[in-house]
Amino acid sequence: MSDLLSRYDSSMLNVFGAPKLALTRGHGVWVEDEKGRTFMDLLGGIAVNVLGHAHPAISDAIVTQSQKLIHVSNFFTTEQVVTLGEELRSIVSLRRMSEPMDARVFLSNSGTEANEAALKIVKAWANTQGKRRILALTHAFHGRSIGALSLTYKTQYREPFAPLIPDIEWIPAGDEEALERAFDEGVAGLFLEPIQGEAGVIPLSYEYLRLARSLCDTHGSLMVVDEIQTGMGRTGAWMAHHAADIVPDVVTLAKGLGGGMPIGATITVTERATSVLTPGMHGTTFGGNPVCAAAALATIDTIRTDDLINHAHVLGNNWIQALRSLEHSLIAEVRGRGLLIGIELAEPIAQAAVIKAQENGFIINAATPTTLRLAPALIISEDEAESFNSALPEILNDAKGQKL
Ligand SMILES: *Cc1c(COP(=O)(O)O)cnc(C)c1O
Repeated sequence: MSDLLSRYDSSMLNVFGAPKLALTRGHGVWVEDEKGRTFMDLLGGIAVNVLGHAHPAISDAIVTQSQKLIHVSNFFTTEQVVTLGEELRSIVSLRRMSEPMDARVFLSNSGTEANEAALKIVKAWANTQGKRRILALTHAFHGRSIGALSLTYKTQYREPFAPLIPDIEWIPAGDEEALERAFDEGVAGLFLEPIQGEAGVIPLSYEYLRLARSLCDTHGSLMVVDEIQTGMGRTGAWMAHHAADIVPDVVTLAKGLGGGMPIGATITVTERATSVLTPGMHGTTFGGNPVCAAAALATIDTIRTDDLINHAHVLGNNWIQALRSLEHSLIAEVRGRGLLIGIELAEPIAQAAVIKAQENGFIINAATPTTLRLAPALIISEDEAESFNSALPEILNDAKGQKL
């Protein structure tokens, strides 16, 4: 074990398992470790580094803002925060411009906090409307703080911390009949990810999303769309739900939003969602940090000027096709949209494949024991994607039979 990895082991709480590498620098989709080895980063800090590593637009924004103000508290505001609020309002409203919307933005520091605020909105809505039930989907991942964890499906994440928040029910993801059966006037809200990332990149159909929207309308329930992993252009649209042409009540963002800086956003899109929280009902010390807001503005600006959403759409969907056409016996299915890609394996060798990939100079991730996940920077080139496709068959052959 390297010096850094052993120091990590004796100083850091072991919740993630041992880190695989100690990284020292990066550029674009490339990272370098302490031993000077380079890797193509196809995980992007788990769908975070949308502009890759050390993008000058982001580092310039951080440097410039840090020389003016780093933190001011929410007794005050800054141009960066106000402009980001305006940008997020307009991004989230890109579809159905004709509908009256009164979107508002709450800034926090992470995905779980963005969902925590959304859950507080749903719970306060429940209380004022005389409702109780909150729906989420099987295999959902919404975060690790107690509220967001209460919405997360995996028992092994939840059980040690029971009892969690009551009145949350999971209904089978993607099953339209089950969705219809689950709804009644007692449903305060529904949480869903348009593509379930942690579950192994499992997309919900557009029909399912539209049905969810209409059931929420019929029963006076708030529809919360968790775009933490799928937002910010990753799937070839600003938000994955845009492709289904629906308007959620609440949208949550984090991961890619700050281009690597910690920032989360809870966006109330409809008037009824916007009206729920009033002064004093929610807050945060660090949320609305101007350095993080400046990084998010630089990220949004670069995505626009470099046409990265179209790039993610075209390159990502070609990549998915190319992976399918490998026709490798260990690849059972290739799922995803744009640059959020799940490679479903015919055997539970995803962990072994991650190690083999790293030995071959690629950073990828096992979302489940049978699913490899790719969520690279949106700036990745076709040649870079192609070099992974060329290496993958050998990586899978080497991993075969190695259950970890
Ligand atoms: C990562 C993720 C979260 C949690 O975000 P954190 O920043 O890790 O708290 C929530 N929802 C989804 C869909 C995610 O992918």
